[in-house]
Amino acid sequence: MSLAAQPVAAIDLVPSSLEFFQSLMNGLQEAVWFIDARTLRVLAVNEASEAMFGLTRQKLIGKHIESLVNSPEDAMFWAAAAAGCHDAIFSDTWMRHADGHMLCVSRRASYVTQADGDGFWVLTWLDQTQQRQSDEARESLLAELRTTLESTADGILVTDLAGCARSFNRRFAAIWGFPEDLLLEKNHGLLPDWMSRNVVDSKLYAARLGAIEGAPQLPSQDVLTLSNGRVLERISLPQWSRGQAVGRVYSFRDLSEKLAADQRIEELSHMDSLTGLPNRRALIERIDYAQALAKRESTPFALLNVDIDRFKQINDTLGHAYGDRVLKEVAARLRDCLREVDAVARVSGDEFCVLVHQADVRGAELAACRIQEAMGQPFTFDTLSFTVTCSTGIALHPRDGGNAEALLASAERAMHWVKESGRGSYRFHLPRKDVDLLSRMRLDHAMRQALQLNQFRLHFQPQVDLHSNAVIGAEALIRWTDPLRGEVAPSDFIPVAEESGFIVSIGEWVLKQAVAQASLWLKRGWRMPVAVNVSALQFQQVHFVESVAQALQSGALPPELLELELTESILLHDADDALLRLRALADLGVCLSIDDFGTGFSSLGYLKRFPIQRLKIDRSFVTGLPADSSDAGIVNAVIQMGRALKLQVIAEGVETEAQRDFLARSGCHEYQGYLFAKVLDAASFEHRVWGAQGLNQRSPQLPMARLGRGGVGC
Ligand code: C2E
Ligand code: MG
Ligand code: MG
Repeated sequence: MSLAAQPVAAIDLVPSSLEFFQSLMNGLQEAVWFIDARTLRVLAVNEASEAMFGLTRQKLIGKHIESLVNSPEDAMFWAAAAAGCHDAIFSDTWMRHADGHMLCVSRRASYVTQADGDGFWVLTWLDQTQQRQSDEARESLLAELRTTLESTADGILVTDLAGCARSFNRRFAAIWGFPEDLLLEKNHGLLPDWMSRNVVDSKLYAARLGAIEGAPQLPSQDVLTLSNGRVLERISLPQWSRGQAVGRVYSFRDLSEKLAADQRIEELSHMDSLTGLPNRRALIERIDYAQALAKRESTPFALLNVDIDRFKQINDTLGHAYGDRVLKEVAARLRDCLREVDAVARVSGDEFCVLVHQADVRGAELAACRIQEAMGQPFTFDTLSFTVTCSTGIALHPRDGGNAEALLASAERAMHWVKESGRGSYRFHLPRKDVDLLSRMRLDHAMRQALQLNQFRLHFQPQVDLHSNAVIGAEALIRWTDPLRGEVAPSDFIPVAEESGFIVSIGEWVLKQAVAQASLWLKRGWRMPVAVNVSALQFQQVHFVESVAQALQSGALPPELLELELTESILLHDADDALLRLRALADLGVCLSIDDFGTGFSSLGYLKRFPIQRLKIDRSFVTGLPADSSDAGIVNAVIQMGRALKLQVIAEGVETEAQRDFLARSGCHEYQGYLFAKVLDAASFEHRVWGAQGLNQRSPQLPMARLGRGGVGC
């Protein structure tokens, strides 16, 4: 690039002044050459020139300038100079260093007129190589920066200290949704205005921005909500230059999608995907909240555990798809029958929980009733209609638990009690029951040990013919003296054994012992039928009939000398299965009786259908005889019914003559009770029944045993 310059004022370049100029030139930083305008040969060079080009003065002086320059521009310039053109030139060009590498230089050539009219050129060289290199480095750095800025997912805005936008990337424009014309206008002053108009709370936005700009040396971080619903995280850092904050760099990150995803994850982790109800985790949080509320406002609340009865059967018979539909329907019904404020959650497979706010015993019971009622409606899917019942356990805060886990556990325990006592109902948690539970566990353990250590005994109570007063049978009753507890009543340990299932082992032991005793008596010549109590669980064992047959066989006892006392619940449980089993037992030839008759729900229909031979009137009806008219009425009715059905009738718990007389008058066949004898050990029984013979165990008499009872043939 040529630069027109004024010719330098005339000076006289004579040898004496050349020396002066030489020392002047040597004082300059730039490389300087004097070129004879006529010959275009180098007249003088300074020391800086030697350093710049690596050529000594001797090598340069006298050289023609055209032999020294390298660029076409220089060649043309000196050609023009040779032709008499004295225009100056100032531009960047290339020169070769003595070692061969190219130097980027700024070169200025000015014509100086001498006093004699001739002239010479003053050529100055400034090495620009380093400058050029750093310019290039800066340029590529800038390009890199720009690419980096554009490739980031964040919107970047650079402002000066007054907050005016100096630059930004495309992402920034996209996040804020600047209109195209605003961007094209290149009037960055409009951007802040657009931004403040597009946030939800522009007042707060202005206040925050003011605070950020008011502290130019501090970083900042906050979150903005835009009018279009997007949520941005705004981070800013001061921009420093020479130790001074000169502006600020803002980065804007769009958090909307992340927040939505986070929210969804949060929702899912608190939700049951099948029913859409809160899950156990969410419920615990709500209970915690209810607890805090209850503390502040001193209001109680209740937690109900609602478990679908026999849900496995629904799944097994109708399939899992129907099972899922039932769960959804139950969820919907629970939601519908409760208040808005109350919460329903699904805590596991077929188990739901209901949190009833501000509920005392009455409120909790009302909620439980509403649930029972809602579940009472038939479930109809497609063409299928069926009934679903639920068992509900109720826990009250704070009585049944001071925190969520304790309350959940109490409600669940109460629910299990409902299940145990027949399902389809509700029940409050009773703290006392927990203590019972522990002592029951201990009792169960002690029983198991007692059986191993042979601590159980079998005693017998005579059964007496009301007319002949002869002993016609014996009821075998278990006795247990525990080393710690002393004598434990069957009414205390039998229910525990029934609950734990240990009754099956006890029952087997009793059966064997009773058969062994009857068989022993028989060997001594005493035909004494022995009645054994059979628990429902024992009766339901798959091999129960076999075990009876086995016991008879191993004791070589005629089956008619064994009687099984069954409870009414056995007949109710699974009537068809019970009938099959009873028939099998009857086929064996054993006698079957119903114990504690009148306390259960036996219907006439059952009694007719089942091969029962004997009814045992429960002691509770005998106690009031003969004065209590309702007891008298019941006992009379049972006797009449038994007679009509051709069943033997025996009354239990006869303690007085008056009771016995009433029974005899009413047509009862037999009785047992303290009036005749208490429950006796085998030896005492023998003594009581067979007198001295029993004691001596000699010359056995023919038994006074039951032979042909009312034609039933036990
Ligand atoms: P249960 O089968 O009804 O037995 C009759 C109960 O009445 C016996 O109580 C007997 O001692 C009692 N008893 C008999 N006569 C009188 C009387 O005149 N007055 C009073 N107050 N009570 C009388 P125990 O032995 O305490 O047995 C209670 C229950 O325990 C039995 O009622 C029976 O259900 C069950 N049980 C006893 N032994 C066994 C057993 O070996 N197996 C099974 N599964 N249950 C048994
Ligand atoms: Mg009995
Ligand atoms: Mg009884």
